[in-house]
Amino acid sequence: MSDIIQLLPDHVANQIAAGEVVQRPASVVKELLENAIDAGATNIKLLLKDAGKTLIQVIDDGKGMSVTDARMCFERHATSKIQKAEDLFNLNTKGFRGEALASIAAIAHVELKTKIDTEELGTSIKIEGSKIITQDFINTAKGTSLAVKNLFYNIPARRNFLKSDTVETRHIIDEFQRVALAHSNITFLLHHNNNEVYHLKSSNLRKRIVAIFGTKMNEKLVPINEQTDIIVIEGFVAKPEFAKRKRGEQFFFVNNRFIKSSYLNHAVVNAFDGLLEQGTHPSYFLYLTVPANTIDINIHPTKTEIKFDNEKALYAILRATVKHSLGQYNVAPVLDFNRDANLDTPYHIQKNVAKTTVPTISVDPNFNPFKEDNQKTHHYKKEHQTQSWESLYTDISIADIENKQEDLFNNQQEISTQKTFQIQRKYIMSLIKSGVVLINQSLAHQRILYEEFLESITVKEANSQQLLFPVKISFSSQEIEMIYTIKTELENAGFSFDEFTKDSVTIKGIPVSVTESKITIILEELLNDIDLEVPDASFSHFDVMAKSFAKTLSIKTGTQLSEKEQESLVNDLFSCKEPAVSPFGKQTFKTLTLQEIDNLFNS
Ligand code: ADP
Ligand code: MG
Repeated sequence: MSDIIQLLPDHVANQIAAGEVVQRPASVVKELLENAIDAGATNIKLLLKDAGKTLIQVIDDGKGMSVTDARMCFERHATSKIQKAEDLFNLNTKGFRGEALASIAAIAHVELKTKIDTEELGTSIKIEGSKIITQDFINTAKGTSLAVKNLFYNIPARRNFLKSDTVETRHIIDEFQRVALAHSNITFLLHHNNNEVYHLKSSNLRKRIVAIFGTKMNEKLVPINEQTDIIVIEGFVAKPEFAKRKRGEQFFFVNNRFIKSSYLNHAVVNAFDGLLEQGTHPSYFLYLTVPANTIDINIHPTKTEIKFDNEKALYAILRATVKHSLGQYNVAPVLDFNRDANLDTPYHIQKNVAKTTVPTISVDPNFNPFKEDNQKTHHYKKEHQTQSWESLYTDISIADIENKQEDLFNNQQEISTQKTFQIQRKYIMSLIKSGVVLINQSLAHQRILYEEFLESITVKEANSQQLLFPVKISFSSQEIEMIYTIKTELENAGFSFDEFTKDSVTIKGIPVSVTESKITIILEELLNDIDLEVPDASFSHFDVMAKSFAKTLSIKTGTQLSEKEQESLVNDLFSCKEPAVSPFGKQTFKTLTLQEIDNLFNS
């Protein structure tokens, strides 16, 4: 048999390597930003089009590359950052594998422009699928610009595998934030489809965190500082009362490199011991500095996991440090009677009117569910499909009963006409032809609101109410970007917006079923829900939005409902298209027939 083993051609090897380095646009962003930092840049711009699917460009003012280096950088295992294996144990740069640019150039259209300080002219290189297309001398400033276009253009399977723009943007912003948090002394700019998303000026760490996560973050931060022989710990943890239901804001940096470590996370969470509400996660921004030769970064291809030499000692020091700082913070507020109450408000709402605690269900005082034409006056605009539930009642002649009861107990009218009862502020019981129906008030209201929102969002004929004073709400710029992407859907739902700034949005109008005091919470919950949503190809904001609003605005267990409100709820539920289940698939009511009640007594 003849020999069959061959070496793979370079471009094929590069494509295979790319599979490991480049999973999605965000991976490219990470590699390019890190290269810019390794080049000593003080200003870094990231320009994106279509969540990076069309364009990812990083422009830096770092040291640039010579003509030869500009060509060399696209070769596999071409790096200026290590020369021998021992260097791996003393790394001070982000990159060292020399694989990123070769991999990226194998699966995209790449344009490099670069110039070093001492040269008059710079170099421009175009490369597609590992093939150099052009190389020229150009006039350009010192530094490097690397544009990556049409990522995965030659690997359709990978391209089709990319998620929606919202999801891919989210991944990019995660990477961007990690890099920006690790280098608060560098100025960063992020533009997406020609809109400025971040402009982070060179500053200190606290200001950088606030610039990324919004002004409301400032009052949440508790500083952390500790120096020992084996580790320096700096940064902030957020006060326990601001712990989040998702793990979003948890950052460890080791020697200025973002890492994930469930072990160290455990140490921090442990330090919060007893201070956290169940199911919540503390936010933290912790910067650990250890001697470069006591860690091994090379164990993970994308370098977000690290091995420490003295893990146990680090755990103990970290835990003790965080605990100590929290302890100091915890004593203070209790003693401080003159504390500014504003500090307790997580969101800053300008011109907000007094909050009300009225249940969000609205009631028509003339409404009687047992009279057919009353439904026209009811506030929901949906087509009522009442047949199914009314048939439950048809055999009872309400008028008859009322008349008789009025005759018999003329002075107890309000008791005798009661048709619904609230049980333990949780269930509503109503009499039906065959027995009784028991309705879970909260789940039922979720169903009603869900259908109402879904209809107004999709039919695009929302019931909106104008606010007397527009409300300005601050969010992080990332949240603003997200609200902006779903602006149209929100408008369909009944919101109307005035001004968008980088970290606030002014709201002029809201859906009729929303009270002003709920605006912040429903938007916050919505962003959270979109975030948690496992996205797929059929990812629809409509449904997520309607579910989220329904969940947030529904009356809760424990809310006392007047008789009218109970009746209104029963009526609305059975006017729904799918009254039997909540938007999250739970049963909203159960019936108990006379037969079943009899059986209770006969067993
Ligand atoms: P690595 O970063 O692991 O060395 P890369 O493929 O990312 O590998 O980059 C290869 C080389 O190209 C780097 O070692 C560096 O010398 C050079 N390089 C890449 N990006 C830049 C940049 N923005 N400025 C200057 N040099 C760069
Ligand atoms: Mg690199």
